[in-house]
Amino acid sequence: MTRLYGAEGLDLDCVTDLLLSGQLVALPTETVYGLAGDALREDVVRQIFDVKMRPFIDPLIVHIAELRQGKILAEISPEVELLAGKYWPGPLTMVLRKRPVVPDLVTAGLPTVAIRMPAHQAMRQVLQKSGLCLAAPSANPFGYVSPTRAQHVIDSLSGRVSHVVDGGDCQHGIESTVIGLQDPERPVLLRPGPIGREQLEATLDREVHPATAHLDKQAQVSPGLLKKHYSPAVNVDLLPHGFSDLPPEITSGQAMVFFQRPKHITGDEDYDLFWLTEDGDPTVAAQNLFALLRKLDSGSRYSRLWIEQAPSEGLGSAINDRLKRAAAK
Ligand code: AMP
Ligand code: MG
Repeated sequence: MTRLYGAEGLDLDCVTDLLLSGQLVALPTETVYGLAGDALREDVVRQIFDVKMRPFIDPLIVHIAELRQGKILAEISPEVELLAGKYWPGPLTMVLRKRPVVPDLVTAGLPTVAIRMPAHQAMRQVLQKSGLCLAAPSANPFGYVSPTRAQHVIDSLSGRVSHVVDGGDCQHGIESTVIGLQDPERPVLLRPGPIGREQLEATLDREVHPATAHLDKQAQVSPGLLKKHYSPAVNVDLLPHGFSDLPPEITSGQAMVFFQRPKHITGDEDYDLFWLTEDGDPTVAAQNLFALLRKLDSGSRYSRLWIEQAPSEGLGSAINDRLKRAAAK
């Protein structure tokens, strides 16, 4: 049985106590819903891997309420302080050299730990009330589409998660941007997200290098870089941005997802049409992306999804990153 909690007041006191006693709670954040537990207790962290059926090679992000906690977990350089001052609390995760207090299980044995200070009010309150550092990977079975509302958590982890806080729809709808800063001289973008590479470069006043899984040794173990991830069960085929027609191969029982509402085409009884945004706003497209993928994946309604990619700039490149992994065979 899964119990649902509200995102304020006594309900948050209650889930704070659960977390302090070593239980797991699915919590909303501004990016996606996370499956949270005490990051410094190895037995708790083990449960997170177990519930998600996540391989131990895949490190977890640790969530904090204050920079002071970050200093206990990792080495904080001036570059980290700069980024934290500008983007925390918010959807930016920094991968830093870890201190011994962080269990190896959290970091998949890596000498680095990923840290984020989330902005969502409920998550922030729980972090503050408990004083815990919370490991909180997305609350979905490993490799599946991330949850952006409480019902998604229940849909794909029912029977595996006992406590879920309902904070409504997530503001960003895609996972945090991950920047590798173990060498502050050479920052690396490990996962594109709501905060763009251009923004990070402007703040740091230096180039942020793209991560290439085969060149970057650290990137190989960065799960956001797994070729196949964020994947629905249904087959996905991508079309370039600006593909404003239907693919000639589309057949009955398949669906077409446009980036923006098409002006001239309407569906017919053979196939259904969807779109991520009415007017092309990438913020809205990101918010809708995972909810739409989950909807189209449910009940084996379609044998194939054709999806037009987002424009490849800013948030659009983070959306396309998720789409490419969802479509990977
Ligand atoms: P999620 O499962 O959504 O919480 O995603 C975890 C993300 O954290 C991955 O995409 C990685 O990019 C990142 N990550 C966590 N720990 C590390 C680490 N020590 N080194 C590199 N990336 C990490
Ligand atoms: Mg995930």
